[in-house]
Amino acid sequence: MTDRRDARSQLPSVDRVLQESQDLVSRWGHLVVSDAIREHLCRIRDDLNKGQHPDWSICAIHTAVNTKLSATDTNGLRPVINLSGVVLHTNLGRACLPAVAAEAAKQAGMLPNNLEYDLETGQRGNRDNHIESLICELTGSEAATVVNNNAAAVVLALSTLARGMEVPVSRGELVEIGGSFRVPEVMESSGCTLVEVGATNRTHLKDYRSAISAQTALLMKVHTSNYRVEGFTQSVDEKTLAELAHEYKLPCMVDLGSGCLIDFTALGLPGEPKASDYIANGIDLITFSGDKLLGGPQCGIIAGKKSLLDRISKNPLKRALRVDSMTLAALSEVLKLYRHPEKLTETLPTLRQLTRPASDIEGQAVRLCSELASQLPQAYRAATAPCLSQIGSGALPVETLPSFAIAIESVEGRDSELRRLATELRKLPRPVIGRIHDGRLLLDLRCLDCESLFVEQLPLLRDALSC
Ligand SMILES: *Cc1c(COP(=O)(O)O)cnc(C)c1O
Repeated sequence: MTDRRDARSQLPSVDRVLQESQDLVSRWGHLVVSDAIREHLCRIRDDLNKGQHPDWSICAIHTAVNTKLSATDTNGLRPVINLSGVVLHTNLGRACLPAVAAEAAKQAGMLPNNLEYDLETGQRGNRDNHIESLICELTGSEAATVVNNNAAAVVLALSTLARGMEVPVSRGELVEIGGSFRVPEVMESSGCTLVEVGATNRTHLKDYRSAISAQTALLMKVHTSNYRVEGFTQSVDEKTLAELAHEYKLPCMVDLGSGCLIDFTALGLPGEPKASDYIANGIDLITFSGDKLLGGPQCGIIAGKKSLLDRISKNPLKRALRVDSMTLAALSEVLKLYRHPEKLTETLPTLRQLTRPASDIEGQAVRLCSELASQLPQAYRAATAPCLSQIGSGALPVETLPSFAIAIESVEGRDSELRRLATELRKLPRPVIGRIHDGRLLLDLRCLDCESLFVEQLPLLRDALSC
């Protein structure tokens, strides 16, 4: 008892530990370090009260505080190496920006700019002016705006044009995207009433016609991004639906999901209708994501008839969903690249990754497989193997791209060993994300840009696995 009381009275003060912790102070600041020391001293006091024997030397406290603060330091956003085989992986940040776009975002973030300032008149300007004409040029639309993401674009469009009214949507298009975007719920939160039309597999024009009433605000189609109904199916194409809407003087809107500005088949990719095709077919309003197939920053684009966009821009919600100058700067640079579509497979990382030939990926797999194999413990066996990459983000979900992977097996067929390997790969300074499939850990190399970084980390992997 006396011992413990002695120890407690002899505990160093916060200031005393701080004096010996100037290295920590210069890294994390006085406030954070003194809080961490105080907290640790409290824990030591508690342990002493419980009759335990914690190490309360200044050196031990310094080490504990350093460990704790280092751990919190790595909780932030970190770059990873995406070998998951999904190019536009929502959990891994979707599209990677081209350097010109990242640089433009950096400039916009660091310097004052004319975000909402008209340099000619010296009066207040409009932030959409910086990208509207480019979007119109690339989609054939009259007007356009940009918000935080495509979900926001849909909510803003619906709550402007259909609040308190009805919107017929085909039962085959009531999709859920990534768990958090469900068409019925998005409509509810936009204050409009969903009128379900047709059946899951078949919807006819007459189904839409009979759903139209005095309460109808617009007709809407949703791109079934992440699934496909096969077999006995029927849907109404946009052109026909737009004609029906116009017959009743209603607008027709399409949520394209990913959206695509160029002819994908010309690049050898699965076909996807272009944004401009919808506008040419009479659709009055389209919405799509900036960071899916477009390959830009996270944002949602709304384009179409000027009369509709005027109403949308006046909605107070627009103010809540608007994007910042960094997003606008990055988007503008990405859109400018689309003026040279023939160069996009070099200039835009998303399209470069999507169009990378399997033979090129195979060459890289062969090169890296022996490097990796030489660093793996005997419990593992690595080989190159063909695999299929996915485009991701609900863009063309059923289509896959032939690719190559390094496939690692546990010699004894143990899943636990594969999981351990996957864990250690994620613990590397630049975490490597693969996928376990059919008893193998696959590292799909389609998106591996920084090959030397991957190789340089391999000795760390070996060390981690050998202890
Ligand atoms: C991806 C997607 C959305 C959501 O877009 P975000 O940019 O993720 O907000 C909405 N609708 C469809 C059809 C989609 O594919």
